[in-house]
Amino acid sequence: MIAWQVHRPGPIGTGPLRQVTMPVPEPGPGELLLRVAACGVCRTDLHLAEGDLPPVRPDTVPGHEIVGEVVDAGVDVADFATGDRVGVAWLRHTDQTCRYCRAGAENLCPASRYTGWHADGGYAQYAVAPADYAYQLPGTYDDVHVAPLLCAGIIGYRALRRADLPPGGRLGIYGFGASAHLAAQVALAEGATVHVVTRAAAARQLALDLGAASAAADRPPEPLDAAVLFAPVGSLVPVVLSHLDRGGTLAIAGIHLTDIPVLNYEEHLFYERSLRSVTANTRDDGREFLAFARDHPLRVSATPRPLAEADEALSDLAADRVTGAAVLVP
Ligand SMILES: [Zn+2]
Ligand SMILES: [Zn+2]
Repeated sequence: MIAWQVHRPGPIGTGPLRQVTMPVPEPGPGELLLRVAACGVCRTDLHLAEGDLPPVRPDTVPGHEIVGEVVDAGVDVADFATGDRVGVAWLRHTDQTCRYCRAGAENLCPASRYTGWHADGGYAQYAVAPADYAYQLPGTYDDVHVAPLLCAGIIGYRALRRADLPPGGRLGIYGFGASAHLAAQVALAEGATVHVVTRAAAARQLALDLGAASAAADRPPEPLDAAVLFAPVGSLVPVVLSHLDRGGTLAIAGIHLTDIPVLNYEEHLFYERSLRSVTANTRDDGREFLAFARDHPLRVSATPRPLAEADEALSDLAADRVTGAAVLVP
Protein backbone atom coordinates (compact mmCIF):
# COMPACT_ATOMS: atom_id res chain seq x y z
CA MET A 1 0.00 0.00 0.00
CA ILE A 2 0.94 3.64 -0.36
CA ALA A 3 1.60 5.50 2.90
CA TRP A 4 3.35 8.60 4.23
CA GLN A 5 5.87 8.47 7.07
CA VAL A 6 7.40 11.13 9.29
CA HIS A 7 10.95 10.29 8.26
CA ARG A 8 13.05 13.26 9.32
CA PRO A 9 11.16 15.63 11.67
CA GLY A 10 11.88 19.28 10.95
CA PRO A 11 10.40 22.45 9.47
CA ILE A 12 7.73 21.55 6.93
CA GLY A 13 9.74 23.28 4.18
CA THR A 14 12.52 20.68 4.61
CA GLY A 15 10.22 17.81 3.60
CA PRO A 16 9.96 15.78 6.84
CA LEU A 17 7.45 13.35 5.31
CA ARG A 18 8.20 10.74 2.69
CA GLN A 19 5.86 8.64 0.63
CA VAL A 20 6.57 4.90 0.75
CA THR A 21 5.19 1.59 -0.38
CA MET A 22 4.77 -0.78 2.55
CA PRO A 23 2.91 -4.01 3.34
CA VAL A 24 -0.75 -3.80 4.34
CA PRO A 25 -0.71 -4.19 8.16
CA GLU A 26 -2.28 -7.25 9.81
CA PRO A 27 -4.80 -6.83 12.62
CA GLY A 28 -3.71 -8.34 15.95
CA PRO A 29 -6.06 -9.55 18.70
CA GLY A 30 -8.78 -6.99 19.32
CA GLU A 31 -7.81 -4.96 16.26
CA LEU A 32 -9.60 -3.95 13.09
CA LEU A 33 -8.07 -3.67 9.65
CA LEU A 34 -9.57 -0.68 7.85
CA ARG A 35 -9.49 0.33 4.24
CA VAL A 36 -9.02 4.06 4.71
CA ALA A 37 -11.78 6.06 3.02
CA ALA A 38 -10.65 9.46 4.35
CA CYS A 39 -8.18 10.85 6.87
CA GLY A 40 -8.30 14.40 8.18
CA VAL A 41 -5.19 16.57 8.38
CA CYS A 42 -4.83 17.91 11.92
CA ARG A 43 -2.45 20.52 13.32
CA THR A 44 -1.02 17.81 15.58
CA ASP A 45 0.23 16.05 12.44
CA LEU A 46 2.14 19.23 11.66
CA HIS A 47 3.60 19.28 15.19
CA LEU A 48 4.70 15.65 14.67
CA ALA A 49 6.18 16.36 11.24
CA GLU A 50 8.09 19.38 12.54
CA GLY A 51 9.29 17.63 15.71
CA ASP A 52 7.41 19.86 18.20
CA LEU A 53 6.08 16.52 19.39
CA PRO A 54 9.17 14.29 19.32
CA PRO A 55 8.83 10.90 17.62
CA VAL A 56 8.39 7.89 19.91
CA ARG A 57 9.22 5.44 17.10
CA PRO A 58 10.86 5.95 13.71
CA ASP A 59 9.04 6.36 10.39
CA THR A 60 5.53 6.48 11.82
CA VAL A 61 2.56 7.03 9.54
CA PRO A 62 0.70 10.11 10.86
CA GLY A 63 -3.05 10.70 10.74
CA HIS A 64 -5.65 10.29 13.49
CA GLU A 65 -8.95 11.33 11.93
CA ILE A 66 -9.48 8.06 10.10
CA VAL A 67 -12.71 7.03 8.44
CA GLY A 68 -12.48 3.48 7.20
CA GLU A 69 -14.35 0.39 6.20
CA VAL A 70 -13.67 -2.73 8.24
CA VAL A 71 -12.15 -5.32 5.89
CA ASP A 72 -10.72 -7.74 8.46
CA ALA A 73 -10.46 -8.19 12.22
CA GLY A 74 -8.25 -10.05 14.66
CA VAL A 75 -9.58 -12.45 17.29
CA ASP A 76 -11.66 -10.99 20.16
CA VAL A 77 -13.45 -8.31 18.15
CA ALA A 78 -17.15 -8.27 19.03
CA ASP A 79 -18.58 -4.83 18.28
CA PHE A 80 -17.76 -4.41 14.60
CA ALA A 81 -18.20 -6.51 11.51
CA THR A 82 -16.72 -6.53 8.02
CA GLY A 83 -18.22 -3.71 5.95
CA ASP A 84 -18.90 -1.39 8.91
CA ARG A 85 -17.85 2.24 8.57
CA VAL A 86 -15.87 3.26 11.66
CA GLY A 87 -13.87 6.20 12.93
CA VAL A 88 -10.45 6.10 14.55
CA ALA A 89 -9.21 9.03 16.59
CA TRP A 90 -6.10 10.13 18.53
CA LEU A 91 -6.50 8.03 21.70
CA ARG A 92 -5.83 4.34 21.00
CA HIS A 93 -4.73 2.80 24.30
CA THR A 94 -5.02 3.28 28.06
CA ASP A 95 -4.33 0.79 30.85
CA GLN A 96 -7.74 1.06 32.63
CA THR A 97 -5.97 0.26 35.91
CA CYS A 98 -4.28 3.52 36.98
CA ARG A 99 -5.89 6.06 39.33
CA TYR A 100 -6.83 8.35 36.42
CA CYS A 101 -8.51 5.64 34.36
CA ARG A 102 -10.38 4.39 37.43
CA ALA A 103 -11.58 7.94 38.13
CA GLY A 104 -12.98 8.35 34.61
CA ALA A 105 -10.05 10.45 33.35
CA GLU A 106 -8.48 8.01 30.90
CA ASN A 107 -7.28 11.02 28.90
CA LEU A 108 -4.67 11.50 31.68
CA CYS A 109 -3.49 7.88 31.72
CA PRO A 110 0.33 7.79 31.90
CA ALA A 111 0.27 4.64 29.76
CA SER A 112 -1.86 6.22 27.02
CA ARG A 113 -0.89 5.72 23.39
CA TYR A 114 -1.93 7.70 20.34
CA THR A 115 -2.77 6.99 16.71
CA GLY A 116 -0.18 8.29 14.26
CA TRP A 117 2.39 8.80 17.05
CA HIS A 118 2.79 5.51 18.97
CA ALA A 119 1.36 3.49 16.08
CA ASP A 120 0.84 4.02 12.37
CA GLY A 121 -2.12 6.21 11.47
CA GLY A 122 -4.26 7.02 8.47
CA TYR A 123 -2.05 8.76 5.89
CA ALA A 124 -2.22 5.43 4.09
CA GLN A 125 -4.51 3.15 2.13
CA TYR A 126 -4.99 0.80 5.12
CA ALA A 127 -4.67 1.12 8.88
CA VAL A 128 -5.14 -1.09 11.93
CA ALA A 129 -6.77 0.15 15.10
CA PRO A 130 -7.97 -1.34 18.39
CA ALA A 131 -11.71 -1.99 18.14
CA ASP A 132 -12.24 -0.78 21.74
CA TYR A 133 -11.11 2.71 20.68
CA ALA A 134 -13.00 2.88 17.37
CA TYR A 135 -16.22 4.86 17.03
CA GLN A 136 -19.46 4.27 15.24
CA LEU A 137 -20.08 7.26 13.00
CA PRO A 138 -23.27 9.23 12.40
CA GLY A 139 -24.67 8.22 9.02
CA THR A 140 -25.66 11.79 8.19
CA TYR A 141 -22.15 12.84 7.09
CA ASP A 142 -20.11 11.55 4.15
CA ASP A 143 -16.55 10.26 4.67
CA VAL A 144 -14.83 13.57 3.96
CA HIS A 145 -17.09 15.60 6.24
CA VAL A 146 -17.15 13.13 9.13
CA ALA A 147 -13.34 12.84 9.32
CA PRO A 148 -12.70 16.25 10.97
CA LEU A 149 -15.20 15.39 13.69
CA LEU A 150 -12.81 12.73 14.99
CA CYS A 151 -10.16 15.07 16.38
CA ALA A 152 -11.00 18.66 15.59
CA GLY A 153 -14.57 18.01 16.65
CA ILE A 154 -13.97 15.87 19.74
CA ILE A 155 -11.13 18.03 21.10
CA GLY A 156 -13.08 21.23 20.45
CA TYR A 157 -16.00 19.69 22.30
CA ARG A 158 -13.85 18.79 25.31
CA ALA A 159 -12.24 22.25 25.27
CA LEU A 160 -15.68 23.81 25.32
CA ARG A 161 -16.67 21.68 28.31
CA ARG A 162 -13.36 22.57 30.05
CA ALA A 163 -14.15 26.28 29.55
CA ASP A 164 -17.17 25.94 31.86
CA LEU A 165 -19.42 28.09 29.71
CA PRO A 166 -22.58 28.87 31.72
CA PRO A 167 -25.99 28.40 29.99
CA GLY A 168 -26.60 31.31 27.63
CA GLY A 169 -23.11 32.65 28.40
CA ARG A 170 -20.68 34.74 26.39
CA LEU A 171 -17.98 32.63 24.76
CA GLY A 172 -14.80 33.87 23.08
CA ILE A 173 -13.13 31.69 20.46
CA TYR A 174 -9.56 32.62 19.51
CA GLY A 175 -8.38 31.18 16.23
CA PHE A 176 -10.98 29.76 13.86
CA GLY A 177 -9.75 26.62 12.14
CA ALA A 178 -11.10 23.10 11.91
CA SER A 179 -11.65 22.58 15.63
CA ALA A 180 -12.94 26.06 16.46
CA HIS A 181 -15.61 26.17 13.77
CA LEU A 182 -17.12 22.95 15.12
CA ALA A 183 -16.92 23.98 18.80
CA ALA A 184 -18.57 27.30 17.89
CA GLN A 185 -21.53 25.45 16.38
CA VAL A 186 -21.94 23.31 19.50
CA ALA A 187 -21.93 26.43 21.68
CA LEU A 188 -24.38 28.21 19.37
CA ALA A 189 -26.72 25.20 19.35
CA GLU A 190 -26.66 25.34 23.15
CA GLY A 191 -27.66 29.00 23.19
CA ALA A 192 -24.33 30.76 23.78
CA THR A 193 -23.37 34.17 22.47
CA VAL A 194 -20.19 33.48 20.48
CA HIS A 195 -17.49 36.05 19.72
CA VAL A 196 -14.71 34.97 17.37
CA VAL A 197 -11.28 36.58 17.29
CA THR A 198 -9.02 35.66 14.38
CA ARG A 199 -6.70 37.42 11.96
CA ALA A 200 -7.99 35.61 8.86
CA ALA A 201 -10.72 37.55 7.05
CA ALA A 202 -12.19 34.41 5.42
CA ALA A 203 -12.45 32.74 8.83
CA ARG A 204 -14.20 35.79 10.28
CA GLN A 205 -16.75 35.59 7.47
CA LEU A 206 -17.29 31.88 8.11
CA ALA A 207 -17.82 32.64 11.82
CA LEU A 208 -20.51 35.20 11.01
CA ASP A 209 -22.15 32.84 8.50
CA LEU A 210 -22.36 30.18 11.21
CA GLY A 211 -24.11 32.56 13.59
CA ALA A 212 -21.37 34.17 15.68
CA ALA A 213 -22.46 37.45 17.26
CA SER A 214 -19.19 39.11 16.27
CA ALA A 215 -15.93 38.33 14.50
CA ALA A 216 -12.94 40.62 14.92
CA ALA A 217 -9.18 40.64 14.46
CA ASP A 218 -8.32 41.96 17.91
CA ARG A 219 -10.88 41.68 20.70
CA PRO A 220 -14.49 40.78 21.51
CA PRO A 221 -17.02 43.59 22.04
CA GLU A 222 -17.92 42.53 25.59
CA PRO A 223 -16.35 40.69 28.56
CA LEU A 224 -16.44 36.90 28.33
CA ASP A 225 -17.72 34.21 30.69
CA ALA A 226 -15.54 31.64 28.95
CA ALA A 227 -12.95 31.45 26.23
CA VAL A 228 -11.17 28.76 24.24
CA LEU A 229 -7.75 29.45 22.76
CA PHE A 230 -7.36 27.38 19.60
CA ALA A 231 -4.40 29.27 18.12
CA PRO A 232 -1.16 27.62 19.38
CA VAL A 233 0.18 31.00 20.44
CA GLY A 234 1.20 31.41 24.09
CA SER A 235 1.51 35.19 23.84
CA LEU A 236 -2.28 35.32 23.45
CA VAL A 237 -2.87 33.82 26.91
CA PRO A 238 -2.55 37.11 28.86
CA VAL A 239 -4.50 38.89 26.13
CA VAL A 240 -7.42 36.48 26.39
CA LEU A 241 -7.32 36.42 30.21
CA SER A 242 -7.70 40.21 30.13
CA HIS A 243 -10.85 39.76 28.00
CA LEU A 244 -12.52 37.53 30.63
CA ASP A 245 -15.14 38.83 32.98
CA ARG A 246 -14.78 38.15 36.72
CA GLY A 247 -15.03 34.40 37.35
CA GLY A 248 -14.35 33.58 33.70
CA THR A 249 -12.40 30.57 32.44
CA LEU A 250 -9.90 30.22 29.60
CA ALA A 251 -9.29 26.72 28.22
CA ILE A 252 -6.29 26.11 25.96
CA ALA A 253 -7.30 23.57 23.35
CA GLY A 254 -4.00 22.74 21.66
CA ILE A 255 -1.57 19.94 22.41
CA HIS A 256 1.30 22.35 21.78
CA LEU A 257 1.60 26.02 22.71
CA THR A 258 4.45 28.47 22.35
CA ASP A 259 5.70 29.92 25.64
CA ILE A 260 3.31 31.94 27.77
CA PRO A 261 4.72 35.34 28.76
CA VAL A 262 4.88 36.46 32.38
CA LEU A 263 1.39 36.98 33.80
CA ASN A 264 0.37 39.79 36.11
CA TYR A 265 -1.77 38.45 38.94
CA GLU A 266 -4.04 41.50 39.24
CA GLU A 267 -4.48 42.05 35.54
CA HIS A 268 -4.79 38.45 34.35
CA LEU A 269 -5.90 36.10 37.14
CA PHE A 270 -7.40 37.93 40.11
CA TYR A 271 -11.22 37.98 40.46
CA GLU A 272 -11.15 34.21 40.18
CA ARG A 273 -10.37 33.93 36.54
CA SER A 274 -9.17 30.40 35.68
CA LEU A 275 -6.66 29.11 33.16
CA ARG A 276 -7.00 25.47 32.09
CA SER A 277 -5.33 23.09 29.70
CA VAL A 278 -7.06 20.39 27.67
CA THR A 279 -5.35 17.02 27.33
CA ALA A 280 -6.69 14.68 24.65
CA ASN A 281 -10.13 13.28 25.40
CA THR A 282 -11.90 10.33 26.92
CA ARG A 283 -13.88 7.92 24.77
CA ASP A 284 -16.99 9.21 26.54
CA ASP A 285 -16.19 12.70 25.17
CA GLY A 286 -15.94 11.17 21.71
CA ARG A 287 -19.20 9.27 21.91
CA GLU A 288 -20.98 12.28 23.44
CA PHE A 289 -19.78 14.61 20.71
CA LEU A 290 -20.57 12.20 17.86
CA ALA A 291 -24.09 11.77 19.28
CA PHE A 292 -24.41 15.57 19.43
CA ALA A 293 -23.26 15.79 15.80
CA ARG A 294 -25.84 13.19 14.83
CA ASP A 295 -28.66 15.14 16.50
CA HIS A 296 -27.49 18.63 15.48
CA PRO A 297 -26.37 18.78 11.83
CA LEU A 298 -23.00 20.56 11.89
CA ARG A 299 -21.62 22.43 8.91
CA VAL A 300 -18.18 20.90 8.42
CA SER A 301 -15.77 22.94 6.35
CA ALA A 302 -13.65 20.25 4.68
CA THR A 303 -11.67 20.06 1.46
CA PRO A 304 -10.84 16.63 -0.02
CA ARG A 305 -7.29 16.18 -1.30
CA PRO A 306 -5.60 13.16 -2.85
CA LEU A 307 -3.43 11.13 -0.45
CA ALA A 308 -0.49 11.94 -2.72
CA GLU A 309 -0.73 15.59 -1.60
CA ALA A 310 -0.32 14.94 2.15
CA ASP A 311 2.91 16.96 2.38
CA GLU A 312 1.37 19.89 0.49
CA ALA A 313 -1.70 19.77 2.72
CA LEU A 314 0.55 20.11 5.79
CA SER A 315 2.49 22.97 4.17
CA ASP A 316 -0.78 24.76 3.49
CA LEU A 317 -1.83 24.27 7.11
CA ALA A 318 1.53 25.64 8.32
CA ALA A 319 1.08 28.71 6.12
CA ASP A 320 -2.56 29.25 7.21
CA ARG A 321 -3.71 28.72 3.62
CA VAL A 322 -6.69 26.56 4.65
CA THR A 323 -10.05 27.47 6.11
CA GLY A 324 -11.63 24.48 7.80
CA ALA A 325 -9.93 21.13 7.30
CA ALA A 326 -8.06 19.30 4.57
CA VAL A 327 -9.07 15.64 4.29
CA LEU A 328 -6.89 13.11 2.49
CA VAL A 329 -8.65 10.62 0.25
CA PRO A 330 -6.61 7.55 -0.83
ZN1 LIG B 1 -4.64 4.56 33.03
ZN1 LIG C 1 -5.76 16.01 16.00
